Order: sequence, then structure tokens, then C-alpha cells
Amino acid sequence: MDNSPLSHYNITNMEEQKWHAAKGALETSTDALTFKTFFSKLEFISAENGRLILSSPNKFIIRQLEGKYAAPVRDALKAANFAPELIEYIVAGASDAEKIAKRRKDTTIDLTTSLPTKPTTIKHHSTNLNPKYVFDNFVVGDNNNLVFAACRGVAEEPGTRYNPLYIHGGVGLGKTHLIQAVGNEIQAKHPDFRILYISIDTFYKDFVASVQKKLSGFTEKYRENDVLIIDDMQFLEGKKESQKEFFHTFNDLQQNNKQIIISSDRPPSRIADLADRLTSRCEQGMIIAVQPPDFETRCAILNTKAELSKLHFSSDIIEFIAKKYTSNIRELEGALNYAGLLQMSLGPRFSLARLEAELQDTKKLRPRTSPENIIKATASYFHLTVTELSSDSREKHILTPRQIAMYLMKTELALSYPQIARALGRKDHTTAMNGVQKINKLIATDGLLRDQVIHIQEAAC
Ligand code: ADP
Ligand code: MG
Repeated sequence: MDNSPLSHYNITNMEEQKWHAAKGALETSTDALTFKTFFSKLEFISAENGRLILSSPNKFIIRQLEGKYAAPVRDALKAANFAPELIEYIVAGASDAEKIAKRRKDTTIDLTTSLPTKPTTIKHHSTNLNPKYVFDNFVVGDNNNLVFAACRGVAEEPGTRYNPLYIHGGVGLGKTHLIQAVGNEIQAKHPDFRILYISIDTFYKDFVASVQKKLSGFTEKYRENDVLIIDDMQFLEGKKESQKEFFHTFNDLQQNNKQIIISSDRPPSRIADLADRLTSRCEQGMIIAVQPPDFETRCAILNTKAELSKLHFSSDIIEFIAKKYTSNIRELEGALNYAGLLQMSLGPRFSLARLEAELQDTKKLRPRTSPENIIKATASYFHLTVTELSSDSREKHILTPRQIAMYLMKTELALSYPQIARALGRKDHTTAMNGVQKINKLIATDGLLRDQVIHIQEAAC
């Protein structure tokens, strides 16, 4: 990495420091509740060409930041001697924000590339479990009672009953919550057990570091556990060496009756490359799916979350939210929190009609996506201009983003290839077809690309 004082890296760091100063200024200039709700989770992503990009975990909050809180944010930045022309917000949790910021620095990590870390041993952070994910606050309905029972079974008798336990299902359906709840329960019962919760991404990075930098500690970190919990297994697709290592780890733990718990967005049989080995291994244990919650379960989840957050809503409000958000519990939570904020700011004027109008507005503000939105979001994610993205350049840093835009126009809008070509100012529809096919293929094996596509999709919709 370039270490000269003028290197891009250092300049970015300086802007990041200014952002931290601005965040500090916001903390002193606003009341504690406002700060906690709107500003505390804002993370710096990048600052280039007068454009500051920040991330927030929630699009409802972003809406407020772009409206009501635009001026306070500007003022705080000014106080920190920072005056970007444009401030943009993207939706991302804290760990996503780190990933995105990091990805901007090292584009791909594989055994052939080098990691920007200093040689040392691989870090072993305690269990990594989040104490908020427990069985007690998990609402059980028809959609998830089997998976819940399997998790409880594992928590009662780790390493014996279902080993491995493999849970799969769509985004926001509670997989992370459940697998961590198992870990927390086992920890409470067996304080002497060594438990590790890890995203497969970390496993992969640790493995690459252990090979490239010859760091010690990898085997110890992963094999010397009583319970190993692996989240988002699908990202191991296409990473052959890491897969081999994963199977060694897996064998070792299973032979010693140590519990393995895996989550993924799809069943093992649908993880390319891994399918055969993983399926047969997992069949020795338990493979089980989480389904989207039905209406009643959604209401129960909302009531539980409201109680936990000390919010009080009438049943019409709860039912309205449960009808509107059907397939992702994270969205349900987001809407509930937003209703809570609205209730707090409107007091007695808060009503179902008002909430409906506000949530309608959110839709207006972020209309169903269009080819233009997709192109803009893709260009902005990769820090390109729309003209560059639509140009004839075949340079990789422009070509891949262009193909991602093509792919999203196909998957999000179901445009025809000639329509996609036209949206990008081209006549020939075969380039659009090739582009879509290429991303389609790559996405199955490249977790980072998949991640990028998801972020752009969220930003465009
Ligand atoms: P996934 O890992 O499947 O994408 P998460 O476990 O992250 O989903 O769940 C998203 C959010 O929804 C979390 O805050 C989680 O606590 C909550 N959640 C999901 N399912 C339930 C449930 N059945 N009861 C209570 N909260 C739930
Ligand atoms: Mg998850």
C-alpha cells in the first residue's frame, strides 16, 4: 500500500477523522434520545470528490436524515471543518459498513493476493455471541416451530443429537437469531464450554491470512471448540481451498462430538461445488428450513418487540404493519421502530391514518425502481459517473459495474435484452445478454460480488 502522505488512503482517513469529529459535535448539540436514535449508528463509508457517503442501518432513519436532520448534520460537519458538496446515505449495518469500507481498499482477497494486515497470530475474540439473541425473545409460530425445537434440542444436548444442525431460509427470517440463541443457551448451561460464532467470511479471511502470512492460531481458533456456529455458509461457494479447510475442521469437530451449527440462505444441495460433500455430511445431522411467518406470527412478533421497547400500540396499528410487511422480520422491526418514533414526536396526534400516510411517503420517496435508478445506484456505488458506466470502455473497473447494472435491470425489472441495451445507450442486445449471463454465473461463486449486488439493489429500490 502507498504510504506517502498524499496517498488516497491517508486522505480518506483524514476525512474519516473529520466525520468522527462531526459525530461528536452532533452528540453535544442534540439531546441524548435524538442522538441515539438517528446519529449514533451512522458510519463513515467514504469521502471522495466532494461526496460523503455514510451508512445507517435503517431506511426510515435515512429518510429523517435527508429531511429534518439535514441541517444539523451539515452544521456538525462544518464545525469539523468538513464541507462535502453531497451527503449520501446507504443502508448497512455496522459490520456491513466495515465490510464496504474495507472492500473499497482491497478489492479481492484470494490466495494469490496479499492482505494489508501485519503478520501476527489470528485473533480469537471470545464467543462473538450477541447476548440479545435468546430463545426467550424468539416468537414461535407454525412457520418456525420445527426449527425452534431442533435448536432447543441442540442447546440441551450439544454434540449428540443433531450434528451438524443446518438451518436455511430467506433473509430476515431469524436464522442468525436462532443459531446465536443456541450458543447463548449452551454458554449459560456450560460456562466452561468453548463456543465460537463466526460468519463464514471471517473463516475465509482467517484461512487466507493463515496461508499467506503463515499466521499461527487458525487451527486452534476453529478446531478447539465445543460448539462452532457458522453463519451464511453460502459465501463459501467457489472458494476451493477454504472449502477443503472447512471440511477438515468439520471432520475434526464431528469426530470429537463437538457441535456444529450452520446457517445458509439455501439448502446444502444448492451450494455449488460444496453440494455433494456438504449434503451428505449434513444429512448425518439435521437440515431444516425457516419459513416466512404467517400474519398471526407477524402480529405476535410485533407485540413482543413493542413490549420489549416499551412501546404501546393499538391492535389496528400492529395489524396494519403486519399486513404491509410480509416477508422479512427485519423490515417489520424497522416499521415498528418508525411507528415508535412517530408516536413519540406526534404525541396524541399519532394515529393509524398518519402512520399510513408516512409509510406511503416512504414509498413515494423511494419509488419502485427504474432503469435510471439502477444505473445511478450502480454508478454511485462504484464511484463512476453515469456517462462512464454507459460508455464503451471495456476496462474491468467499468465493465463489471456495467454488467451488474444489466443484471439488475433483468432481475428487478424483467426488461428485455434490447430494452437493457437501450437503457445503457447501446444498440446491440447481445452485450446485454452476455453481461447478464456473466453476472448470473459469477454471483453463484463470488460472495463479495453477491454482496455488492445486494447493496446496489437496496440502494436502487
Ligand atoms: P436472518 O439471519 O435469517 O437474515 P435475523 O436472525 O438477522 O435473520 O433476523 C432479523 C431480525 O428479526 C432480528 O432482529 C431478529 O431478532 C428478528 N427476528 C426474526 N425472527 C424472529 C422471531 N421469530 N421472533 C422474534 N424476532 C425475530
Ligand atoms: Mg443472518
